[in-house]
Amino acid sequence: MTSRIGFVGLGIMGRGMVKNLVEKNHPVTVWNRTPEKAESLKKDLNITIAPSIKSLAETSDVVLLCVSDTPDVEDVLFGETGLANGLRSGTTVVDLSTISPAASRAFGKTLAEKNIAFLDAPVSGGSEGAAKGTLSIMVGGPEEAFDRVKPILEAMGTRITHMGPSGSGQTTKLMNQILVVVNMLAVSEALLLGRAADVDLLKAVRAVEAGAGGSWMLSQRAPQAIDGYWQPGFTIDLQQKDLRLVLESARELGLPLLATSLVHQLYNKLQKDGKGGLGNHALVQALEDLSGLKVHKA
Ligand code: NAP
Repeated sequence: MTSRIGFVGLGIMGRGMVKNLVEKNHPVTVWNRTPEKAESLKKDLNITIAPSIKSLAETSDVVLLCVSDTPDVEDVLFGETGLANGLRSGTTVVDLSTISPAASRAFGKTLAEKNIAFLDAPVSGGSEGAAKGTLSIMVGGPEEAFDRVKPILEAMGTRITHMGPSGSGQTTKLMNQILVVVNMLAVSEALLLGRAADVDLLKAVRAVEAGAGGSWMLSQRAPQAIDGYWQPGFTIDLQQKDLRLVLESARELGLPLLATSLVHQLYNKLQKDGKGGLGNHALVQALEDLSGLKVHKA
């Protein structure tokens, strides 16, 4: 039997995800806090708009949500008119947002008392991945629930991995965020050294990207920094939310994460300078300020 899907959160990511679900013939009912976003999506897609989160819950077998931060997920789940008031026993909630692993475990425990399965399923691949249906999705929570919703996740992503118990999807996503930002710090330092020595930076990027120093951030974001193009794939403000989650987890686990802390401080400076809306590759601008050099030749 086809599952009736409810989807909460039509932001940059949610819109692309819903488009892919509909294109793969899943029946989708949506709700968004700002109703105009749902109405504008309905002009292009065959979707139903629910009048409230509770009514969306009452008519769904599986509810997916993609909102901003931990308190927002808590609101959508347990707020006065939240999902928990409408979901029936035996249904499944899949949280695609990036939030705290510890909070995800607590949410899963509370919902399990009502026989509702909860999966933490954060994604990586950016707005491009959401639009193309090529996301990587890292899932924590009960295996039977994962098996039930896997075909739905496959409509939105190409690498779907069940990581283990509740919270482990979020922890995997935080590992990904450490890799992204510490890598961007290395890319920034390499670009500055090249600029100081007057090397052709783009030529240098292409010369090394296929070797041991290669990475997605180097190939995709270094050329943008060299061009002085700072539009966000992922904003510094959202990146800082994720680094806060990384550092909170590290504190809970008694772990020193020196490089991640350093990047968090450098992004703090950029936010203070009013640059929180730039792409996360603008990290290089913090090092430019320290060195007095510019990677982009004006
Ligand atoms: P976004 O464009 O800012 O959209 C956020 C969505 O959440 C909007 O629909 C917003 O509703 C809704 N929302 C926020 N707080 C809410 C609340 N308290 N109650 C109900 N709805 C609420 O963000 P996004 O880029 O789609 O990111 C969503 C999640 O995916 C985040 O956890 C982010 O870290 C993660 N993510 C993003 C990317 C990326 O490249 N953008 C990549 C991977 C993962 P309104 O429309 O009313 O504001």
